[in-house]
Amino acid sequence: MTATVIDGKAFAANVRAHVATHVDTLRDEHGITPGLAVVLVGEDPASQVYVRSKGKMTVEVGMASFEHKLDADVSEADLLSLIDRLNNDPTVHGILVQLPLPGHLDSDLVINAINPAKDVDGFHISNVGLLATGQKSMVPCTPLGCLMMLRDYHGSLSGMDAVIIGRSNIVGKPMAQLLLGDSCTVTIAHSRTKDLPGVVRRADIVVAAVGRPQMVPGDWIKPGATVIDVGINRIDKPGGGTRLVGDVDYDSCAQVAGAITPVPGGVGPMTIACLLANTVTACCRAHGLPEPEGLTA
Ligand code: NAD
Repeated sequence: MTATVIDGKAFAANVRAHVATHVDTLRDEHGITPGLAVVLVGEDPASQVYVRSKGKMTVEVGMASFEHKLDADVSEADLLSLIDRLNNDPTVHGILVQLPLPGHLDSDLVINAINPAKDVDGFHISNVGLLATGQKSMVPCTPLGCLMMLRDYHGSLSGMDAVIIGRSNIVGKPMAQLLLGDSCTVTIAHSRTKDLPGVVRRADIVVAAVGRPQMVPGDWIKPGATVIDVGINRIDKPGGGTRLVGDVDYDSCAQVAGAITPVPGGVGPMTIACLLANTVTACCRAHGLPEPEGLTA
């Protein structure tokens, strides 16, 4: 079997087009422009790239982008005071603090200072609790993107066996909550799981979010299963230079799976698209307007 490739790049372009249509409607019919504020502390090169591309795509869908760049040695009090200003700014509907933060800043404290209604990353403890109890929340962008692709490919996910490899707060755990919400039977595997290959072989849906290049080989995959590869790992190429690979060994998994997301071009582009989707959703909720369909869990 050769797997169907789930084209996250094309899917993300559709999501962004959907967001842009809603942004037009909000502007033309209600005089509202959704706004996303991104806070970057320090000069981590990867974070700078992410923030630049988030800002560019925010503007491309017609939303307002506010970038706040703070020195690496900013005090916690100054960062919290900026968040307080953004919480109270009616032109800002979404706030994202780019992680990781420098070591002297308490990430949990900073994230939990964001107004949960503007927490478009979905990391605030209130949103974590709302998602865990099946209530309306802001949903973390990467798992939301995975869910959208799975729903689009399968229609109903009800009754499917899903195995998530990785138990992080930003991917593994919220992914599990979302798949439970769609009535999957969910297993979360992690670094201490016994017989990981045997666990993964039971899965109709495998979500790999580990951070280990090409860790999952094709012989762990049940024939016909759907493989969602969240991993982004840079490895050396034999002839020099580097390339990006996921947490699954794409070539061997694609021989066995029914469907698979590539790296790059799978989950990655969906993450930013879902950030924009969350911002438009937050804006609609803030103004008591109907939320766009298909952009939330
Ligand atoms: P993390 O380091 O916070 O968590 C990794 C998890 O993998 C842990 O729960 C750990 O228990 C588990 N793990 C580690 N080694 C294991 C092993 N040998 N067997 C089974 N489980 C093991 O990572 P994260 O933030 O969840 O990110 C995971 C990957 O996803 C990384 O490659 C990251 O770059 C990528 N990522 C991609 C996006 C995107 O937009 N595509 C977004 C977030 C993270």
